[in-house]
Amino acid sequence: MSEHTDPPAPSIMSSPGRGGDDRPRILFVDHTAALGGAELYLSDVAEAYRATAAAFLFQDGPLRSRLEDRGVPVHVFEAPAALDNVRKGSSIGRAAAAVPALVRVSVAIAQTARSFDLLFANSQKAMICAGPAAAWTQTPLVWCLHDLLTEDHFSRLNRWVATRWANLFASGVLVNSEATRSAFIEAGGDGRRTALAYNGINTALFDDAVTDSAALRRDLGIPADAAMLGVFSRLAPWKGQHVAIEALDHLPGAHLLLVGDAMFGEDAYEQRLQSMAARRAVGDRVHLLGFRNDIPRLMKAVDVVLHTSTSAEPFGRVIIEGMMAGTPVVATMGGGPDEIIEDGETGRLVPAGDPEALADAINHVLTGEDGDLVDRARRQAEARFSRAAMLRDVDQHLRDVLAETGVTPTSGHCARPGARVSSD
Ligand code: UDP
Repeated sequence: MSEHTDPPAPSIMSSPGRGGDDRPRILFVDHTAALGGAELYLSDVAEAYRATAAAFLFQDGPLRSRLEDRGVPVHVFEAPAALDNVRKGSSIGRAAAAVPALVRVSVAIAQTARSFDLLFANSQKAMICAGPAAAWTQTPLVWCLHDLLTEDHFSRLNRWVATRWANLFASGVLVNSEATRSAFIEAGGDGRRTALAYNGINTALFDDAVTDSAALRRDLGIPADAAMLGVFSRLAPWKGQHVAIEALDHLPGAHLLLVGDAMFGEDAYEQRLQSMAARRAVGDRVHLLGFRNDIPRLMKAVDVVLHTSTSAEPFGRVIIEGMMAGTPVVATMGGGPDEIIEDGETGRLVPAGDPEALADAINHVLTGEDGDLVDRARRQAEARFSRAAMLRDVDQHLRDVLAETGVTPTSGHCARPGARVSSD
């Protein structure tokens, strides 16, 4: 597997005219070290602050080396298993059993936080653990919310705890789409603390990627004239890879690449996809490639990039990546995709969980009748979802939080955790 070299994120500079180095010292906190979309985002953001930042992870894994390779020092504090066992739909009993573990992790974060100006929690578990640490050490906390806090994704208890905890401890909440912001407010979160920063991708990765579609087809045994479709997501039921397999019934001869791993304990789903493909006699047209580091190359090689989530997506990095690759994108409507794609102009939106509609949209883009859709998509993606734009918006929010909470970067802090910021 070839690996793309990701050019370094530009380092966040000191503000001109301020005298001295006013780059904030940020401790980035994440509960996982697996490379999901949120962690790929984190590595780009943390890299931009590498001169003054560090990361605090609750486990060891690929994110650690990715951050270290980018010059970000990493503290790993192996969290007790009880914390890992709390999942999105967990009961009160299981959540209560995790409290001692939460305290231990919070204490460890607090010990590390003393040398930083700001805590940046990149996941819900990270925010829950970093909240008390922020209060003890008087360090402002920003929660980067990558999830839609809706009943499709989280239990009522989970939504209640997350929003109340954020209202209590977080001075700012960075949201990755308007959909994410609305769901946060609907679940009881304080909208005045939120600021929007869309994910952004380094376009150079896609400009520089060299692809050889013919060689890929040869390797996978895909005929030269067959349509080659790709889903580029971790394997999970709500990511809807099964819908793409069902769509093959309506797409004779088309082949489907499923790129991604079962990352968060969803191995049974991988088995289900395999047996489903075999049962429908499309096993020879479905190719499970596992987790790959050469997404730009693969996205440029396929004929259509599919996004098949069965419920609303908070953002959907794969959509903007497909647009940057210059490959037509067909995505499920709802949430982030509605904010990214203009249906029929820069991609195609289809209803969730509808394999026939998915196949129709794929057939449509394969005819090429949409004219210069891919050019428009690429221009839009570059204009709205560049890494530079993301870093600018994130930095603005972090500086607003520091100003509002009375912290002067690198000169020690006297924060009021939970103080409100109104950066929007
Ligand atoms: N991705 C990857 N390798 C894979 C599959 C996916 O690097 O094998 C990346 C993909 O390019 C995208 C991210 O994982 O940047 C997924 O982000 P997205 O927002 O689409 O979904 P999430 O995982 O955050 O729910």
